[in-house]
Formats: sequence, C-alpha cells, structure tokens
Amino acid sequence: MTLTDPAVDAAGTAQAPSSRARTEELLARHRAVMPRWQSLYYDEPVALSHGEGRHVWDIEGTRYLDFFGGILTTMTAHALPEVTAAVQEQAGKILHSSTLYLNEQTVELAERIAELSGIPDAKVFLTPSGTEANDAALLMATAYRRSNQVFAMRNSYHGRSFSTIGITSHRSWSPTSYSGLQTTYVQGGYRLRSPFRELPDGEYTAACVADLRQLLDMATSGDVACLIAEPIQGVGGFATPPDGFFGAIKEVLDEHGILFVSDEVQTGWGRTGEHFWGYQAHGITPDLLTFAKGVGNGLPLGGVVARAEIVDAIQANHISTFGGSPLVSAGANANLRYAVEHDLQGNAKRTGDRLRAALQPTVDATPWIAEMRGRGLMLALECVHPGGIDPDPARAAALSEAAKARHLLIGKGGLYGNVLRIAPPMTLTEDEADEGARLLLDAVAAVG
Ligand code: PLP
Repeated sequence: MTLTDPAVDAAGTAQAPSSRARTEELLARHRAVMPRWQSLYYDEPVALSHGEGRHVWDIEGTRYLDFFGGILTTMTAHALPEVTAAVQEQAGKILHSSTLYLNEQTVELAERIAELSGIPDAKVFLTPSGTEANDAALLMATAYRRSNQVFAMRNSYHGRSFSTIGITSHRSWSPTSYSGLQTTYVQGGYRLRSPFRELPDGEYTAACVADLRQLLDMATSGDVACLIAEPIQGVGGFATPPDGFFGAIKEVLDEHGILFVSDEVQTGWGRTGEHFWGYQAHGITPDLLTFAKGVGNGLPLGGVVARAEIVDAIQANHISTFGGSPLVSAGANANLRYAVEHDLQGNAKRTGDRLRAALQPTVDATPWIAEMRGRGLMLALECVHPGGIDPDPARAAALSEAAKARHLLIGKGGLYGNVLRIAPPMTLTEDEADEGARLLLDAVAAVG
C-alpha cells in the first residue's frame, strides 16, 4: 500500500497551483441545498476526494493525516484493498436482496458478530445506522421488560431519531423530544463535570451508585426497562469513567431486573486497545450491545446483539430494508476479518499508548488543557479557561484550525464543543503516530 500521491510533494502540498475555487463552488451549492444545521468543520471547509491508508486528499490535491478516521468510521484504513475487493465482488453479483431472502454474506456477518460480542445465546439485528441500532435496542428492552422507563447517562449521545434524541443528554442535539420514553439521567459518565469529581475512583463510583439507588426510588416506579450507556462517551468528548464503574452500576440494575445496554458504536472492535469491547473494562457482560460506525469501514451498517429471549421479545414484524444488505455485509465481513487477523486491537494499544506518552508532558504543562482522557486510539483533550474548568470552545476551534493548517485532521466534540478528539484508523503505524503527535504539539504551541 503506497502512501504518497504523485500529485502531492513530500510536505503534502499540491504541486499544481492550488485553487479554492472548486471547493468554494461546492460549498455554495451545499449551503443552498443542505439543511442549515448540517454543520461543516473548519472556517474553510475541506472537500475530500479520496483516501488511502491513514491519509485523505482534498479536491485541491492537499494530503492530510486523518486522525479522526471519518467519524471513527474508517476503522481499519481508507481504501483497504481487502474491503474494496469484497465490495466490488459483491457489487458484481447482487447489491440488495432484502431481508425476505436468505443471503450468505448477511448470515455470515451475523454469526461473526454474535460470536465476537461475548453475549451468550446471542442473536443479531442489523440496521443501516447506530441510531436505528439503539432504536431497536430500546424497542427490545421495553418490550422485554414491559416498561417505557429508561435510564441513560448524563452527557450521553445515542442518535438522532425521536427515541434516541429522547435518551441523549446534550441540549445541542435536542431540538425537540417527543419521545414516548420516560428517561432519567444517571450520574457518572462525565467525571470532569460531575459534582463527585474530586473523589478518588472507588468513592466516585460509590457516590454515583448511591445516586442511582436514590433515582430509582425518587424518579421511577422501580420497573425501569434498561440503562443505556457508552463505556466511553463518544460525542460527549471521550469522557471515561473509572474501570469497574459499570460493574458497580450493574449490580444495582441486576437487583431490579433492569437490562444493561452497552452502546459500543464508538468503543467497539478493539479501538480502546486493552479490550475488544468497552464493556470489558467493567468486568460485566451486557444484556444488549449496539454497534455501528467502524464495523463496515465506512459502509452504512449498525446493529444490536442480545440474548435471543430479549431480541425475540419484539412480537411484530420489524424489518429494515437496508439493514445488513449483501453489499454492506460483504464489506463488513472483510473488514472484521482483517481487524481480527491483524490484531488491530493490539495495534490500537501500542500506537495509542505511544501517542499518549508523546502528548502527556505538553498536556500537563498547558493551563488551558484540563485533561487528556480516553484509551487506545480514542484520546481527547478538553480545552478550558485557565484556572478552572470553564469550557473554552474558541480555543478548541483555534487548535483544530491550527492542526488543519499542518495537514492534520482531528475531531471536535463535547457538550460545549470544547473537546478535541483523536481516533485514527486502527492500522496507524508508529511513524504516523509520531508524526501526528508532532503536528498536534506544534499546533498547541502555535495556539499558545
Ligand atoms: N451511538 C453513539 C455512541 C454514537 O456516537 C452515534 C453517532 O455518533 C450514534 C449512536 C448514532 O449513530 P448514527 O450516526 O450512525 O445514527
């Protein structure tokens, strides 16, 4: 796999005179036809043309190191030959055959995911997105438990449908919520902004557990269907609870028969390095697990895995026209096979640790970075006003622009838009980790 483009010099700059004209024209057309709220990164948005490995090129010929992998969607690599070949082969046979017919690629994918999930006696429902995966998980949990009461974590993000907006704890994602679910938000996901943040790990977890017990008595009738949680909050800025946190929470849930749904849309498939799933840092097995984003390396795919009795609690037809189509399943099968056979989880641990070690001294010495958090190839920096934890989204925006000027693409996020997120494709090499760290540190120095 070559990482250079003949049209681009060693510094990543187009040799032909670069022109913004095509990008500007595309931007004007985008603004005219797309919704106002469909926001774009950067003062001067980037129009991507193609990618290879951990790099992408814009239509002006500039090459960038992609430290966000799309939106954690490019899990293995851009244009991974194995995935491209599988998709091309399947495209030549049949693109779509609907859930009404048997299909080998789809069944193979479901079998693979059921086995990887760690959930016993598992069945899999495939969807075209994470939102629909969570929607289906909520449907299963509420049907199984015959309750419309749900616990979700503060600072959570689970999608953009009525029901998933209803369990998302970010006002910026909630234009309205007419969800029929009765949602109660639990403490603990976002430690930096929790009233218990000064407490050491064990006491922090105990305080959140005590709060959950009180919520059960004060805010619910007791027969809550499920608690849905991201093991590391994604859109919420890679907020990471202490190891074992959800183990302690689940003990309370188990006392009441409440199901635990692990939303692994961002944390799955080994990205967190030490574990294949985020839930494994907590010594538990979830009752339901949802996934999307990286599973298809950018192809539209998501789904739910759960014990058969929970999946089959839905007593009605519940099909998804495009969920797990042959085309998407063929790509996802190749992608997951590659990730497991090449131990990308191990690579995420090695390169993630290397990246963290390179960034940590500067993070410690920079008064406007409150903390670096996350694990493996899922790392975030939270920008604040020095001397406290007041969010500083302007500084985060400046840092993101400074990184882009150095041809490094990183993600933004967090409740206040003040968190920078790093989540490169999981085939990241050590040299690329070093290069990304150097570019980011240079950007931090430039922002000052
Ligand atoms: N759950 C989590 C944790 C997510 O991060 C996202 C998307 O960012 C979703 C669910 C929704 O997935 P999608 O955008 O594919 O609908």
